[in-house]
Amino acid sequence: MDFDVIVIGGGVAGVSAALRASELGKSVALVERDQVGGECINRACIPSKTLIDAVKTVNRVSSSPWIVSSATLDYAKLNENKARIITAIKDRMEHNLNARNVKVIKGNAKIKAQGEVEVDGRTITGDHLVLSTGSVPLSLPDFPLNGRNVLDPWTAMNLKEIKNRIVIVGGGVAGVELATLFRALNKEVTILELMPQLLPGFDRDLASATKKRLEEKGIRIYLNAKSKIVNSEGTVKFSVNLPNASEEVEGDLAVVTIGRKASTENLNLKEIGVETDQRGYVKVDERGRTTNPKVFAAGDVAGVPLSATKAWRQGIVAGDNIGGKESKMPKYIPSSIFADMEIGTVGKTLDDLKKAGIEAREIMVEMRDIPRAWTLNETDGFLKLVVAGNKIEGAHMIGEGATEVINTMALAMELGITTTQLYSVTFSHPTVSEVIGEAIQRLTHGEIY
Ligand SMILES: Cc1cc2nc3c(=O)[nH]c(=O)nc-3n(C[C@H](O)[C@H](O)[C@H](O)COP(=O)(O)OP(=O)(O)OC[C@H]3O[C@@H](n4cnc5c(N)ncnc54)[C@H](O)[C@@H]3O)c2cc1C
Repeated sequence: MDFDVIVIGGGVAGVSAALRASELGKSVALVERDQVGGECINRACIPSKTLIDAVKTVNRVSSSPWIVSSATLDYAKLNENKARIITAIKDRMEHNLNARNVKVIKGNAKIKAQGEVEVDGRTITGDHLVLSTGSVPLSLPDFPLNGRNVLDPWTAMNLKEIKNRIVIVGGGVAGVELATLFRALNKEVTILELMPQLLPGFDRDLASATKKRLEEKGIRIYLNAKSKIVNSEGTVKFSVNLPNASEEVEGDLAVVTIGRKASTENLNLKEIGVETDQRGYVKVDERGRTTNPKVFAAGDVAGVPLSATKAWRQGIVAGDNIGGKESKMPKYIPSSIFADMEIGTVGKTLDDLKKAGIEAREIMVEMRDIPRAWTLNETDGFLKLVVAGNKIEGAHMIGEGATEVINTMALAMELGITTTQLYSVTFSHPTVSEVIGEAIQRLTHGEIY
């Protein structure tokens, strides 16, 4: 065998799997056909957050009348900064791979047989395989991507010039983040969402607070909207069927945020005994092991949640198990949305628990009750804890700092910390995290703030 492990795909899942297996003494090859760092670093999380953070800084200045100078964005310079950040992060990853002796092979990998991978005509062999080939946007019949005015999120974010009227298909995480970005750039933005709730699957109050804020910013949101593109020759025209009406919506640009599929072409999964689910994602257990014990899968290719947060962890878990260390996926994977008001969420909602027949209750603290929210000039939002008995089942937060605060809740929940134990923890003052202390205080004794 040329290597103990061949990792196919150098996104965050592949990089973390390769580094971990190598740390545990395995010889590792990582095959990447495009850029190390994959979607997250090059096209998704990092570029989108660079842009969103910049527009939020401008928003913060303009919504603070006591700051007297005005701030505007230089979009060309911002894009240069984005490119610089991507390169810095990618260089660091490549440096780490190199330092741990992971052999990075540039090229398109094709699985020929168990343990045999062809990379651009050359065959390499490995004892274990890790599939971390990610997912790709799907061109749906009702929203066919055309590379011109009907685009996937990454292409839309990378336009040199952004058109004026933008219609976003899908009000999930990517749809909400892109709407925030484009609106802050003074574009006319419409979101078309098929489900009755923006951010389907998220806590209901959190979704309505997000909708309210986006609408206040001037974004048009259609829920229960069964839509399709009827013409995209000049502008993009949609027919939109609502429960009691039908409308035509028109934009200069459509961004389709729904529909992705596992990237599994070339992997010959059937031949090597790796099963997929009905949607084409590779089936894995909690150790990242596929139906073939010598083959692991991590990240988007292994199914929902399609998040870099999960992808990193699953790569580490796969690397651990290949390296002989027992490890399993965590019970709780937090998720963050970098919208105009940040969102952080982990665990179950009250609705989830009700459906499962579990008796639970919620405790909600509004951000206006927390002193730091006032000093930050962002008093909207709340933290909601979902508790069953003494156990914290979920935490859902919207407001400034939510994407950071949620990690503390993930820590507490993963370690099984009870509400009584959390009550004994002190949170520094004045910080946004005090909202956790206040929620526990109210739950166990009574409010302080
Ligand atoms: C706009 C947007 C914003 C996002 N923001 C966030 C966020 O803030 N936080 C978050 O957690 N998630 C976010 N995500 C999701 C996140 O980007 C993905 O979940 C994550 O990148 C998946 O990582 P991965 O390693 O599984 O796959 P990928 O990053 O897709 O990497 C797969 C790699 O495999 C390579 N590859 C595929 N096939 C082959 C082959 N045959 N041979 C060689 N190489 C191959 C590809 O070139 C690619 O580099 C966002 C997504 C989008 C679209």
